[in-house]
Amino acid sequence: MRTRAPGDPLRHALTLAFLAFLALLAACAGTGAPAGSTAPPAPVAAADSGEYVVMVSFDGLRYDYVDRAPTPAFDRVATAGVRATGLIPSYPSKTFPNHYTLATGLYPSNHGIVDNAFYDPSYDAVYALGDDEAVTSGRWYGGEPIWVTAERQGVRAASFFWVGSEAAIRGVRPSYVKAYDSGVPYSARVDTALAWLSLPVPERPRLVLLYMSEPDHTGHRAGPDGTEVEAVVAELDGIVGRLLDGIEALPIASRVNVLLLSDHGMGPAPAEQVEYLDDVVDLDGVRVLENGTQALLYFDGDEARLWAVYETLQERLEHARVYLREETPERWHYRRGRRIGDLVVAADRGWLVGTRSGRRWNGGGMHGWDPYWRPMHGTFMATGPGLREGVEIPAFENVHVYPLVAHLLGLEPAPGIDGRLDVLAPILTRPPAR
Ligand code: AMP
Ligand code: ZN
Ligand code: ZN
Repeated sequence: MRTRAPGDPLRHALTLAFLAFLALLAACAGTGAPAGSTAPPAPVAAADSGEYVVMVSFDGLRYDYVDRAPTPAFDRVATAGVRATGLIPSYPSKTFPNHYTLATGLYPSNHGIVDNAFYDPSYDAVYALGDDEAVTSGRWYGGEPIWVTAERQGVRAASFFWVGSEAAIRGVRPSYVKAYDSGVPYSARVDTALAWLSLPVPERPRLVLLYMSEPDHTGHRAGPDGTEVEAVVAELDGIVGRLLDGIEALPIASRVNVLLLSDHGMGPAPAEQVEYLDDVVDLDGVRVLENGTQALLYFDGDEARLWAVYETLQERLEHARVYLREETPERWHYRRGRRIGDLVVAADRGWLVGTRSGRRWNGGGMHGWDPYWRPMHGTFMATGPGLREGVEIPAFENVHVYPLVAHLLGLEPAPGIDGRLDVLAPILTRPPAR
């Protein structure tokens, strides 16, 4: 999969000849952009040069899971390429905010998917991960996800279940996208990715995003520390092997970068460690969006009520902190925008917050707590022609993944992002531009 491996000179010459032939064909057929036009480059030219990125998310793959199970395929990637000691999620360490941060290079308060469930006062509507209408509607998604950056610059993108990719964002969807269906086997997702990478050049995506919902489910059910997690990670390793073998068999193998990563980790959440907000304060008429590790409270402009509830919660909660939106810890970058709520009630590590009428918790594992708590850290490993060989780097924040993918694909990243490519300079084979 690496370009530094000695190439086959005959294949190289044939590829060059083929490229020249395609260029001639494009010129004869008049498919190139006319002089002075601002149209994106013709797909043929765009698709047949540059590197590929296949980015796979394993939901809830904690930073240490692959070290607890036999994982020869994950190990192939880490040994041949780069591994970080962790991938630091953005607050809150939940699935939807973090997948969309990985896609945009923005903290959740800047891209707008501020939790798995939240309220927007200006829309007077709730976004929730189980609500198909909301999840597929572009109006909720700010920033520019990497597939939009790619498509706008003439590079095709494909997504198998990446959060947000079903919606038209800035009017753009990936060239290839699937409607979310958790029942699709992981092997079928991998095979589809390989089929996309085998399409004729003009149709072939150079960016392929894949999502796998394990080991998150098992981590929630059984907790992060048992053998159940180890068994599922060993199974996922087979999926990684299938993907790597499939890529290696492609003629473009040496141009493919593979990124294996996750949205967050997992911590233990004993069933008895739940604190109920309505045991300590009257919440009648207050909108409460419950996310387990935190609750977002909205007061619809009722300042007097806001202050009264704030003070009571501050006094009486024993296992959670209550913050005005503007006073959440600075490292969370979680102060901007009314979707966050007027108050953020954040449970202490290992604890949950809820209301008596809300969801029941049965124990097991959970995530959503402070991203700087080690069990919340996810996984990052990657290999390919744009990445150095055998490098281990310290844990880094997941906002930096978007500029990394843009760099590998030769794309101009969207302006104003929170992520920075220079943080990842030590892992790159080509220095960052500028
Ligand atoms: P949580 O672990 O509570 O943060 O939520 C993860 C849930 O989100 C899992 O049950 C996934 O199946 C679900 N999920 C992940 N991606 C998508 C998607 N693109 N569309 C709808 N649901 C998704
Ligand atoms: Zn997740
Ligand atoms: Zn989860």
